Amino acid sequence: MGLVVQKYGGSSVADAEGIKRVAKRIVDAKKNGNQVVVVVSAMGDTTDELIDLAEQVSPIPAGREFDMLLTAGERISMALLAMAIANLGHEAQSFTGSQAGVITDSVHNKARIIDVTPGRIRTALDEGNIAIVAGFQGVSQDKKDITTLGRGGSDTTAVALAAALDAEVCEIYTDVDGVFTADPRVVKKARKMDWISSEDMLELAASGSKVLLHRCVEYARRYNIPIHVRSSFSGLPGTWVSNENPQGDAQVEHAIISGVAHDISEAKITVVGVPDKPGEAAVIFRTIANAEVNIDMIVQNVSAASTGLTDISFTLPKSEGHKAIDALKKAKDAIGFDSLRYDDQIGKISLVGAGMKTNPGVTASFFQALSDAGVNIELISTSEIRISVVTRQDDVNEAVRAVHTAFGLDSDSDEAVVYGGTGR
Ligand code: ASP
Ligand code: MG
Repeated sequence: MGLVVQKYGGSSVADAEGIKRVAKRIVDAKKNGNQVVVVVSAMGDTTDELIDLAEQVSPIPAGREFDMLLTAGERISMALLAMAIANLGHEAQSFTGSQAGVITDSVHNKARIIDVTPGRIRTALDEGNIAIVAGFQGVSQDKKDITTLGRGGSDTTAVALAAALDAEVCEIYTDVDGVFTADPRVVKKARKMDWISSEDMLELAASGSKVLLHRCVEYARRYNIPIHVRSSFSGLPGTWVSNENPQGDAQVEHAIISGVAHDISEAKITVVGVPDKPGEAAVIFRTIANAEVNIDMIVQNVSAASTGLTDISFTLPKSEGHKAIDALKKAKDAIGFDSLRYDDQIGKISLVGAGMKTNPGVTASFFQALSDAGVNIELISTSEIRISVVTRQDDVNEAVRAVHTAFGLDSDSDEAVVYGGTGR
């Protein structure tokens, strides 16, 4: 008998109908002879609604109470799901993250899992029950407070439980049929992949692809847990994400490019008129680091000989823009720059694929596609298996489609289906 961990996202359990539909799928998996552990997210946009509510009560929600509030979302869906399963004549028991043994550090709102001790889940399974676990939450090891794992954290809960229970597979059910060569909301001709390497998936996630969280893929890679991303709305097989291609190496050689990701959640700061002398970049980025802001791309221009001044630009999450600007303003005299420019109308497009390591010309074709689409490039950064550019945000969708077509990724069959979700 196999042990399967299934995770259902908020759009799959958005209402009573959704919960009943998911309950049937779970029961089917059980009837097929599996032991089934289910991780569930909060219904629909519940988490966002709880955050809105908290902000109305207090503009700066406190860590501990904020986590206490947000975990309520997952508790609602886990209990309802257990009831719906019982209604189908099967035994299900729901567990909070804490009861399921998800032990975290004590960093509220973005806790990291440090141990998983799923004793109660094992017992439930051994007694023939289906175990339902609230995603996105745990309990801190030292203070025993309730914590949350950061937005989208239910995927990480699922993979962590799959690893701790030595599951055969972690199935992540979502509102699209799998991992696509681009966001199907933007590219109608995006193609579903049957398999993608953890390595490429990590890079896509880091570049803005939202189908799987970076942390979840990282966890799965470390513990060698195969993930099967699929839709809870259709019976179709989805995309396998794993370290090794189940079909053997021939396929790996074949795919040069895995996909195109885009991200419109970043902003760009330009520090104008920085003296071109050793140590300046160090002071700027120390200032940013001390403000606990994560940066992404960096570009420094050559200084004009006449002035000896240069400009340094970098990108960062929009949500951290104010923190960074405030910190830089305070350090203006120490750094000695002229002015700051803040631009939140940027977008990033990334082409990802391990095959680009050994295939010359990928970069040239990428830039050609952008040029043909009339898209102007503002910043460029690369890794061994990725090329990213920053453009105007208005150009992003067009650019993604152009690059997708240029690399022959367009499907010639049906349009990609998006079954649900508000995309919030
Ligand atoms: N409900 C949480 C969120 O919306 C966790 C999750 O969906 O994975 O971020
Ligand atoms: Mg959610």
